[in-house]
Amino acid sequence: MTTRVLTGITTSGTPHLGNYAGAIRPSIEASLRPDVDAFYFMADYHALIKCDDPQRVARSRLEIAATWLAAGLDPEKVTFYRQSDIPEIPELCWMLSCVTAKGLMNRAHAYKASVDQNTDKGVDADDGVTMGLFSYPVLMAADILMFNAHKVPVGRDQIQHLEMARDIAQRFNHLYGGGQDFFVLPEVQIDDEVATLPGLDGRKMSKSYDNTIPLFEGGAKATRAAVMRIVTDSRQPGEPKDAEGSHLYTIYRAFARPEQSAQFRRALEEGLGWGEAKEQLFALIEDELGPMRERYDALMASPERIEEILQAGALKARALATPLMERLREAVGLRSPLAAAAPKSAAAKPAAKKARFVSFRGEDGGFRFRLQAAGGNEVFLSESFDNPQSAGMMIKRLQQGLPEDALQARGGSIELIMDGVLVCRLPESELPALRAALSEL
Ligand code: AMP
Repeated sequence: MTTRVLTGITTSGTPHLGNYAGAIRPSIEASLRPDVDAFYFMADYHALIKCDDPQRVARSRLEIAATWLAAGLDPEKVTFYRQSDIPEIPELCWMLSCVTAKGLMNRAHAYKASVDQNTDKGVDADDGVTMGLFSYPVLMAADILMFNAHKVPVGRDQIQHLEMARDIAQRFNHLYGGGQDFFVLPEVQIDDEVATLPGLDGRKMSKSYDNTIPLFEGGAKATRAAVMRIVTDSRQPGEPKDAEGSHLYTIYRAFARPEQSAQFRRALEEGLGWGEAKEQLFALIEDELGPMRERYDALMASPERIEEILQAGALKARALATPLMERLREAVGLRSPLAAAAPKSAAAKPAAKKARFVSFRGEDGGFRFRLQAAGGNEVFLSESFDNPQSAGMMIKRLQQGLPEDALQARGGSIELIMDGVLVCRLPESELPALRAALSEL
């Protein structure tokens, strides 16, 4: 069984070394494992909570997408998308908001930290607190539950939000599930091997503290200049340094092999000067980032290429989100008015119902579609396709008509074969329904 892993990066600034070592690099490594079904996204709705500069958000969306791709993410293997391209996410967020206790959100760390700061300053407890900040754990729950992720790799500060997502999922399942669970309860994944990088001033490297080492933006020159600004103590060359307590060494370790780290540590303890140590750190980082830099620059020069990849990713993601959302709407009582037995106004002429194809991603990770007759009955469920494009192509071919040689009798049932590819098997008795549905598309 594959494990679905989901992670996102907020698009509120330029990606930095901490994002790379703490999220992008380990996530790309995980995505290469055959038992992992990875969902990686640009959290651009989250960016609006922290950033009201439209240009910064727009630029950051592009930079973060280019960074993932330049660092080696394979968008064919991973579902790679932008949160705001999935309209089902804010819709789910609202449904989840309606089952989330306000008291639960009152306890969220980010909100409590703001309240504590305001209390210390002697201003109103909610001063400067937006509804976005207050309820962002619900949006995070929607991100995760939308795709029924099993594992969410996070830093320790996010454990509480994962617990909230589980609480919210359980409440929704209990209220509306009627014995079936809509949502998997996600588990937090804390990887002790993954470093949390300090920034230039020693606090956690973060866009919010403006203490970051940029990854690609500004070229190698900007990375070098930032490395040279890492705060150290005032010990001179020749004086032994406290390697373990230095931020420089923490960053070095995140890029070095264990024997390289041990050597660097020894050199510091034996008096290596900070200036030389910074040159060595920069060379080490460049060894890894240098080859990615060219790919990054090429991608940033072709935003339309990035857009194409993200649109294909959104299609893949929505192949899961759309059918789940249909089920959820039905569960909460928001069925499509055409399906509901609601009284219609005398003036309104009911639209003629048509047969249609409904595509979705199956539990096995493959892409399927079903043909639904005008009355709503399923005529057939397709075989599984490797990608949404192949499934979509097959739907297009069927919409153009059924070639006579497409139907082949085999062992008491009929196989529908298009261009040599098996689309589905169905009982012979279903043939009239198949022909009728195809003519009513
Ligand atoms: P954010 O930019 O806060 O949305 O973070 C995106 C991802 O980068 C998350 O998985 C964070 O845990 C990770 N991250 C952010 N800052 C650091 C850091 N200083 N060290 C390691 N990982 C980080």
